Amino acid sequence: MTFRLKIEVLSNCIGCGICWTICPKGVLTGKLRERASVLNESLCSGCFSCQNNCPYSAIKVIPIQS
Ligand code: SF4
Ligand code: SF4
Repeated sequence: MTFRLKIEVLSNCIGCGICWTICPKGVLTGKLRERASVLNESLCSGCFSCQNNCPYSAIKVIPIQS
């Protein structure tokens, strides 16, 4: 059984920039005041820093069984 990680940015994201600044793998990108974008999900290490540091709980790291 293997897992991959899905990153989901929710509609309440305000584009504060914390997640794409903190991500150590360059998975996320964005422009200030616009919803964050997922650039390369396959590089995600599952550190959960984005999810744990978003002040709006607007980004989720979801393990998907594949
Ligand atoms: S930290 Fe949260 S609110 Fe800020 S850009 Fe990322 S997902 Fe959006
Ligand atoms: S879990 Fe870590 S590596 Fe994956 S997108 Fe979030 S901050 Fe980046």
